[in-house]
Amino acid sequence: MLNIDLHCHSKVSDGTLTPTQLVERAATRGVSMLALTDHDDLGGLDEARRVANEKNIIFINGVEISVTWRNRTLHIIGLDVDPKYLPLEQGLAAIRSGRVTRGSKIAAQLDKFGIQGSLEGAYCYAGKDGLIGRTHFARFLAEQGYAKNVKSVFKKYLVKGKPGYVSHQWASLSDAVGWICGSGGKAVIAHPARYKLGKNLLDELLLEFRALGGSGLEVITASHTPEQSLIFARHANRMNLLASCGSDFHGPEESYFDLGRMPDFPIECMPVWHDWDLRI
Ligand code: AMP
Ligand code: MN
Ligand code: MN
Ligand code: MN
Repeated sequence: MLNIDLHCHSKVSDGTLTPTQLVERAATRGVSMLALTDHDDLGGLDEARRVANEKNIIFINGVEISVTWRNRTLHIIGLDVDPKYLPLEQGLAAIRSGRVTRGSKIAAQLDKFGIQGSLEGAYCYAGKDGLIGRTHFARFLAEQGYAKNVKSVFKKYLVKGKPGYVSHQWASLSDAVGWICGSGGKAVIAHPARYKLGKNLLDELLLEFRALGGSGLEVITASHTPEQSLIFARHANRMNLLASCGSDFHGPEESYFDLGRMPDFPIECMPVWHDWDLRI
């Protein structure tokens, strides 16, 4: 049985390990096929691929693109993308520059709320030129003692309705799927249960996604309970979508699933990798 993990993050976005450390950890855990899927950034792929080759791991170029669809944020995973495809590169660069603006707004709001220095604090975690996200703010706020850990900082400060939340316009669904498919990759909706869509809205999303060229649904993910995995396995089959699985690992301290440590893939689903050439 192949141990497959098609969703994880490195320091290039909001993970805590370098791409090298991440792939080494995956190797230790027996992962045989790995996709690095940093948020809106392809910067870790070359390094990760080099180490994966040394470790005999099949490596898949991945990305997790932030999307706004009907006023909600969705994450779309691109698998087997071509990092040199210009529209993808440029589209992601635009999202990253939007993150810079949003980061300043988050800091300004926290400032008004009486929390100073969060922009500098967040960049200490993100790196000077690194992609900035809410996780970097969360790490700073946790370090400063505003809540006991990153998870509770999110709840208290960084989600909708809380002082550090800023609504933001990400890429459109059609752009994100277009960049992924245009580069030769497969688009997969990440952790679908997280969006809490009712049946009608979910169907509209799945139909629109498929019409745009989207291929799959992430069925196995740390964000899903076993029941939710079962439900989305059924949705995938009902909508003729392929199924994917990934730990969404961000680091040893902050993740529910470790690399390659996930529940079994649902046998009734067609895997997103069913027609891939699985040689290294
Ligand atoms: P951003 O794309 O900057 O809005 O940040 C999204 C990231 O924040 C996700 O990929 C997770 O890594 C993290 N995140 C979002 N919500 C939570 C939460 N409730 N608890 C912990 N981490 C979260
Ligand atoms: Mn993340
Ligand atoms: Mn996500
Ligand atoms: Mn993720």
